[in-house]
Amino acid sequence: MLRITGGQRRETGPDGEYVIRSIPGAAATKTYRCPGCAQEIPTGMAHVVAWRPYGDGEDRRHWHSSCWERRSRRSPRAPRH
Ligand SMILES: [Zn+2]
Repeated sequence: MLRITGGQRRETGPDGEYVIRSIPGAAATKTYRCPGCAQEIPTGMAHVVAWRPYGDGEDRRHWHSSCWERRSRRSPRAPRH
């Protein structure tokens, strides 16, 4: 089984490639605002951080895990209704 230390992985989403890191609840010591639902991520809640694999990392965003998954499931090639 492949296990990456630190829980970091790459994903290609609707608007390009992101690096994702899972933050365990014990490491969530600050409150963040999730860009997916505009709600706060309270301290102690496991969540994910996403940022572009290029650049300086200033575009890091903290997401609820469920919000990130919902976002990344959208296909960029899906037809709009
Ligand atoms: Zn959210």
